[in-house]
Amino acid sequence: MISTSFSYFCRVPVRIQPTAGPWEDFSTRQMEQPFLYNDLTSFLRKHFKEKMQKISLNAGFSCPNRDGTLGYGGCTYCNNQTFNPDYCRTDKSVTQQLEEGKAFFARKYPNMKYLAYFQAYTNTYAATAALREKYEEALAVEGVAGLVIGTRPDCMPDDLLDYLARLSRRTFVLVEYGIESTNDRTLQRIHRGHDYRTTREAVRRTAEAGILTGGHVILGLPGEEHDELMRQAEEIARLPLTTLKMHQLQLIRGTRMARDFEEHPSQFHLYTADEYIDLVIDYMERLRPDIVLERFVSQSPKELLIAPDWGLKNHEFTAKLKKQMTRRQTCQGILYKPS
Ligand code: SF4
Repeated sequence: MISTSFSYFCRVPVRIQPTAGPWEDFSTRQMEQPFLYNDLTSFLRKHFKEKMQKISLNAGFSCPNRDGTLGYGGCTYCNNQTFNPDYCRTDKSVTQQLEEGKAFFARKYPNMKYLAYFQAYTNTYAATAALREKYEEALAVEGVAGLVIGTRPDCMPDDLLDYLARLSRRTFVLVEYGIESTNDRTLQRIHRGHDYRTTREAVRRTAEAGILTGGHVILGLPGEEHDELMRQAEEIARLPLTTLKMHQLQLIRGTRMARDFEEHPSQFHLYTADEYIDLVIDYMERLRPDIVLERFVSQSPKELLIAPDWGLKNHEFTAKLKKQMTRRQTCQGILYKPS
């Protein structure tokens, strides 16, 4: 029989083996880790029994905020070079990019399965037939067990949503929307080309169609200080999101935001790693406890990054974050207020 008590801060059951006899010492007890946050690995384990790896793709799509439909300059922080690994170039087919990605990762884990991550630019911005062709090409590659599709909230037409809903009944499909901010003034300032209402609608339609829905936010955009970000967390908690990625604001060479920073540095708060860790914790305390938190930082190539340069790898950041959460005796959702 397993007895259940409660962890000291997050009301998550800790299972303790009953005492087997006078010879038992503490090392024979099995205690679960206290709940800190919903992590991606546990989420993927519910969907797949194999170890999973995302492979980033550049399928050659454009973006309405760059091709002139909405604007030419793109979002002020955007430089797509920052999220394109070398193996992912447009002169290579989706199949070729996936095979090269697989060869890279399979050296370490031969039994791994993969998610094709349509990441660069806007991956729902083309005729539905052309999109289907690319998605299905990816799914036909051996070992690819699902799709993650990164896009903008204003690029999800009904016919594509219907197709993705049908597809998601037979395979793993996650649509990941760039939300970035819930504040229309900020969205205008960073030239996103859509408002927050568009985001809310896209997320609602996608989740209601039965498709796993993810979001991405940037913490530290100009004009968004702590109170504003806490309001943002409460708003994000109301969206029917399955996953969320948070990123610190990074200033990237050659972007309009880098120029803005040069001209008006006082309008930017570039966080130290420790400050940002506390900000992320404050933010996740207000999120719905079941949202899967996929990542907290992004790492742009050093040669493109102006600031902040913390010199921390993703796993090092996560370790520091967990340590600080434990020190603060807190967890995701502890301040969540259901509306
Ligand atoms: S929507 Fe994405 S790809 Fe397009 S300009 Fe903005 S960040 Fe860049």
